[in-house]
Amino acid sequence: MLFDTIVAQATASGIAALNIIRVSGTEAISLVDKIIQGPRLEQMKSHQIAYAHVVDQEEIIDEVMVSVFREPRSFTRENMVEITCHGGMIVSSEIIKLLIRRGARLAEPGEFSKRAFILGRIDLTMAEGIIDIVEAKTREQLILAHKSISGEIKAKVDAFQSALLEIIGIIEVNIDYPEYDDVVSMTRTILKPKLESLIDDIDAIIRASESGKIIREGLKVVIVGKPNVGKSSLLNSLLKEERAIVTDISGTTRDLIEAEMNLDGLLVKLIDTAGIRNTADVVETIGVDRAKKAIDTADLVLLVVDQSDSLTDLDSDLLELTKTKKRILVGNKIDLGRKHDFASEHVVDISAKNKIGLDDLAQKIRDIFLESSATSSDMLFANERHVGMIQQARDQISDALDAIHAHMPIDLIVIDLRGAWESLGEITGISTNETLIDHLFSSFCLGK
Ligand code: GDP
Repeated sequence: MLFDTIVAQATASGIAALNIIRVSGTEAISLVDKIIQGPRLEQMKSHQIAYAHVVDQEEIIDEVMVSVFREPRSFTRENMVEITCHGGMIVSSEIIKLLIRRGARLAEPGEFSKRAFILGRIDLTMAEGIIDIVEAKTREQLILAHKSISGEIKAKVDAFQSALLEIIGIIEVNIDYPEYDDVVSMTRTILKPKLESLIDDIDAIIRASESGKIIREGLKVVIVGKPNVGKSSLLNSLLKEERAIVTDISGTTRDLIEAEMNLDGLLVKLIDTAGIRNTADVVETIGVDRAKKAIDTADLVLLVVDQSDSLTDLDSDLLELTKTKKRILVGNKIDLGRKHDFASEHVVDISAKNKIGLDDLAQKIRDIFLESSATSSDMLFANERHVGMIQQARDQISDALDAIHAHMPIDLIVIDLRGAWESLGEITGISTNETLIDHLFSSFCLGK
């Protein structure tokens, strides 16, 4: 397949020492040859680098290093050239303009990766992994994204698809020999455990995806407690330690405050709620409703109580409201002494104001996540699109199993299994429609 030659800056704009310009397409090498003085790129082997000058009408535009990648050994599988030029606002745009004058076209966002996909060098999960790497905020996210780009997800999906194809093959033999009843019933006996085991494997992946999702999207931790127990102080102290950025979600101080922090490689989204109390005040009521919603969606609740004061009905209400959630009881104001004990539940003693016990609390948050998180080898699927499609495949396999139990005709069972095979194929992109593919690649940055 031949495409036109595209060009784009791969690095971010702004003042920097260097920039990289990428050129890809059949004519990429000959085109760059036309704008440089130096060794002939056409005569260079793949993966060689040359020192050259970019020249426009006898004027030197820049001193550059030029790397040559010949098809198919390049990121896109086409001929590619990477020009490393000086940074800044002007140099790269002048070079790109020159290349466009010589016949290249400015690439669309994600077009390099899209070509790599179309030409079969990467599948969709690897392409999505590239976006995840660029957007990663924590080390854990980076490690997860690497599983995507190294092809671990693709390998898993391919294995499921092969297993399904084998099963479909068995059924097809039956459809070809419908006159042998005993063969059909034997086939049902063979199929059942195979499908059950496939469902078990997929279920393990879906369970593990919960942890993957938390790593990818962040652990949502909601801080609740009655007014004045020290919620805001706690949020601020935690953030100060981690130097995070606090953003006001909405205008009023009674509303939610959300901030992100990097807790030893785990992205934590902290949400400070307004004091939950029964009130007739309209603004406060809106705040309370949002707080309750925040509790519902939380991965973890920090319920803050004032150790130095007696518990009130409101504390009891909050204990009740959060009892089904994963929660940590935080006993604040320990500097003022302790008035009560929670015999049944461990309390992490802190003083938000005096910064006592914050490390213990952070450790406890991490422990709770790790306790519930899957082993890292199971944790592959974190992307909502992937999880959605694998869930769909699981449901289709389960429908096939139901059909077997209901003694449905064997050729009907195969319809569900083919559907499952296609759902899996959507993850890697072999059965994905063009609109989705365009949509995915358009979310890339320019030059990727
Ligand atoms: P919120 O309404 O739950 O957000 O509570 P704040 O964070 O606004 O704190 C209420 C009051 O308690 C403020 O005057 C804080 O300075 C004080 N406070 C917070 N944490 C502590 C603590 O650990 N020890 C003491 N002595 N006072 C604290």
